[in-house]
Amino acid sequence: MIHSKAYAALSASSPLTPFEIQRRNPGPEDVQIDILFCGVCHSDLHTARNEWANTLYPSVPGHEIVGRVVAVGDRVTGFKVGDLAGVGCMVDSCGHCHPCDEGEEQYCENGFTGTYNGPVFGGENTYGGYSQTIVVKESFVLHIHHDEKDLANVAPLLCAGITTYSPLRHWKAGPGKKVGIVGLGGLGHMGVKIAHAMGAYVVLFTTSPGKIEDGKRLGADEVCISSDPAQMTAHANQFDFILNTVAAPHDLDAFLQLLKLDGTMTLVGAPAAPHPSPNVFNLIFKRRQLAGSLIGGIRETQEMLDFCAQHDIVSDIELINMDYINTAYERMLKSDVKYRFVINMANL
Ligand code: NAP
Ligand code: ZN
Repeated sequence: MIHSKAYAALSASSPLTPFEIQRRNPGPEDVQIDILFCGVCHSDLHTARNEWANTLYPSVPGHEIVGRVVAVGDRVTGFKVGDLAGVGCMVDSCGHCHPCDEGEEQYCENGFTGTYNGPVFGGENTYGGYSQTIVVKESFVLHIHHDEKDLANVAPLLCAGITTYSPLRHWKAGPGKKVGIVGLGGLGHMGVKIAHAMGAYVVLFTTSPGKIEDGKRLGADEVCISSDPAQMTAHANQFDFILNTVAAPHDLDAFLQLLKLDGTMTLVGAPAAPHPSPNVFNLIFKRRQLAGSLIGGIRETQEMLDFCAQHDIVSDIELINMDYINTAYERMLKSDVKYRFVINMANL
């Protein structure tokens, strides 16, 4: 076994503290990656604090992982020692159900294995990227084609990037489409950049007046303060698609009313408590749809990384040391991050 330093939550109420974990020795199909940077997703916080009531402790979060390959198994063909590599939210799935056959491992009918807190349906716990090293099956490891100097800023693409790219592609964001992005946090700022690069007309909805200028700089054509009813009314019945990234329960009707006939709002935010139920009349009168979306498959994650490399898209980050994580969580809860914390693992 390989010893690895890590940071873990030992219970829902305890801060994250130094911890040691074991990784398996790389098998024939495995890639071992020494982690250089790991992004801090709001899902890490939900999990560390057991907000989804499914956390296995000790919990080592982190699923926006980038680093360097230090060992490969005999049957590995796509990676060699020294390569840059990424790992996102999944490290395995059944590989033979319909969604897995379609490359949509995130919807694996037998439950994909999460990079941390997995497998969902029993088995041993998994430990994520708040650690020195990780061993992952080759088919769940991603190639990084960005410039190495941008590596820390690439880390958040592994979750925030794919979680916004996948629904934007699925619901066909592109030229001639009016797309709303709700919430300018880690996911939201990637959503704005990616939707803009896809050619859509992008409107950012934020509760933070201080983020208006950033929203425009990141690629929004317009920014709307979602707590101002007059600004919201001006956008009624216009949107083809709205991607809602908000991490807290809120009034969905305020956004459903902005969709045009057959428009869709997709929820990717996963608050601990439910949203108030929307008013059905807001759905039935314009055949509007309310949907959800979970990260993206491995093939699509590679497609997203390549798309972002081609379009010069990375995340706007604040680089932190591992021992800042508990403060980072508190700041994330106050929407006080521009726009993703990334941990520098060199200082673990
Ligand atoms: P984040 O960085 O904290 O961003 C969330 C943003 O939501 C905030 O920056 C804020 O934007 C807005 N917001 C927060 N509280 C709000 C409130 N009470 N009312 C209205 N707006 C509020 O979080 P994140 O990492 O982007 O993650 C967002 C959510 O997506 C989390 O629940 C996370 O678990 C979930 N997630 C889901 C998937 C998936 O596959 N579906 C994948 C990853 C993460 P403004 O300041 O602009 O208003
Ligand atoms: Zn995430």
